[in-house]
Amino acid sequence: MGLLTASQLERLRAFVRGDLEPLAFERWFLGEHGMVGALGEDLHWDLTCADYRDGSEVRRLRQLLKDLINNDASCECWMRRDHDVIPMGGDGQDERFFATVDRIDDHGGRQWWLYLSRCNACEQHWLVAQEERIYDDFFIRRLSSGEAEAIVADGLWPSTFQTYEDVLATGLAMSQPCSFFDPLPGSLVWTVEDLLKENPGITEARIAELLGIEPGHVTALRNAANSSSSRGP
Ligand SMILES: [Zn+2]
Repeated sequence: MGLLTASQLERLRAFVRGDLEPLAFERWFLGEHGMVGALGEDLHWDLTCADYRDGSEVRRLRQLLKDLINNDASCECWMRRDHDVIPMGGDGQDERFFATVDRIDDHGGRQWWLYLSRCNACEQHWLVAQEERIYDDFFIRRLSSGEAEAIVADGLWPSTFQTYEDVLATGLAMSQPCSFFDPLPGSLVWTVEDLLKENPGITEARIAELLGIEPGHVTALRNAANSSSSRGP
């Protein structure tokens, strides 16, 4: 893929991972020159003539491009969406992604779930929210070099994941909450406590939605939080 400019490669990657819509990609691709050498004549022709409204055709093209780009990749950053979710454990996605991505700066303070990471292969920076109470996921956001610099140099963090409600809302949109057998596990009690501390006006219906439980269950958790003096992560 060395025959492509950095910006051409980035467009192709964004299309493969889904950050660039098919029709927007088509418009860009048809106006772009000098990629036949890197893509090969067959794939280049396919990409030129494809019907980008056809979902199965788009999936086929994305897979062909993915295989081609993967040959050159030394990390998994490029195939991750700008906003993405990585499950903890399970199929080992987290091990593969974090094999090259290192934690370099903790937010600290009230946002104990939040840190800045950097890939030692491609130098991409990621904002990471580690959510191990309700969803068991890493929620990640691709950062520009300017955003990463603002964190490192000035301690200025993006607004994403600044509240635990925002972290859980991300889980609600992109993942599935865990099931709990114990009705009052610490992870639920502490989370209800934290959500109420962040936003005393939050409704029980909203808490129930974020935690994937019934509204009546939230009342029991609130009572447990009020009577409990113990705290945990
Ligand atoms: Zn990387």
